[in-house]
Amino acid sequence: MKLLDGKLASQAIKEELRLSVAQRVAEGKKVPHLAAILIGNNGASATYVAAKVKACEETGFKSTLIKFEDTISEESLLAKINELNYDLDIDGILVQLPLPSHIAEEKIITAIDPEKDVDGFHPINLGRMVQGQASFIPATPYGIMLLLEHFKVDTTGKHAVVIGRSNIVGRPLSILLSANTKPGNCTVTLCHSKTKELSSHCQQADIIVAALGKAEFLKADMVKEGAIVIDVGITRVTDNTKKSGFRLLGDVHFETVSKKCEWITPVPGGVGPMTIAALLKNTFQACVKRS
Ligand code: NAD
Repeated sequence: MKLLDGKLASQAIKEELRLSVAQRVAEGKKVPHLAAILIGNNGASATYVAAKVKACEETGFKSTLIKFEDTISEESLLAKINELNYDLDIDGILVQLPLPSHIAEEKIITAIDPEKDVDGFHPINLGRMVQGQASFIPATPYGIMLLLEHFKVDTTGKHAVVIGRSNIVGRPLSILLSANTKPGNCTVTLCHSKTKELSSHCQQADIIVAALGKAEFLKADMVKEGAIVIDVGITRVTDNTKKSGFRLLGDVHFETVSKKCEWITPVPGGVGPMTIAALLKNTFQACVKRS
């Protein structure tokens, strides 16, 4: 078993970006600037946004964190996004999901200027991605592709089973894995909550991506020998032995599944840090395009 170490790979990407930013500074060019909007008091969301801001600092990016109470109106949020769209210093805008139920996610996502949509959720970017055009790719699927690239995992001709069809992870990843790219060129089966015989699909897979959000769902008897397993899931489970009062579990039963794998991602330290590295890459790209 070899570890697809997202900490290691993301450090390498961040170091590359840090040098590129330093080069831009030396040339008197603009530094990438990410604006992150955090709404409400969701502990997990606050942790993710803090990690994104910290990564910006480490790589020499500017970041602006904008916090709102969860009572903010849709109108006020749209007004803020509009302001950021026209702010010449801002290169990338992210709105941390999920949003309070009175705010329509789709409206917010489509209000972001596609050229600043560094989370890659805007339909224009998703459309470009589907057609294989240059676009901002959603950070988690992009991070997974970068992870496979970093460890030179050969995916060509392999059968990939992706569990989960969300717009931010499973569906875009299924498209990227099937594209005529390297990594890519997989034959992809996209599974979801209505899939029948999920175990038998998984047992035939060379690559399994678990992105369903159910702790330790993928068990060893669902995985064939020599498989490549990518665990996207993050579930907080109560753990009173931890200072935080919880620990993180992935969608894969790591202890038993890892024994059968050629490659596997850990949780934490796998897809999570790669998501942040991919977000930074998108923000850097946005900055380069704009100045
Ligand atoms: P989601 O709830 O939007 O989608 C879950 C998907 O899983 C759905 O398409 C559903 O059909 C499918 N599903 C649910 N139960 C199933 C079952 N029993 N069998 C087969 N399919 C089933 O979730 P999401 O936003 O895509 O996130 C999935 C997980 O990934 C969550 O744990 C989330 O926290 C995590 N996540 C991690 C990162 C990261 O950076 N590591 C980023 C995004 C999401």
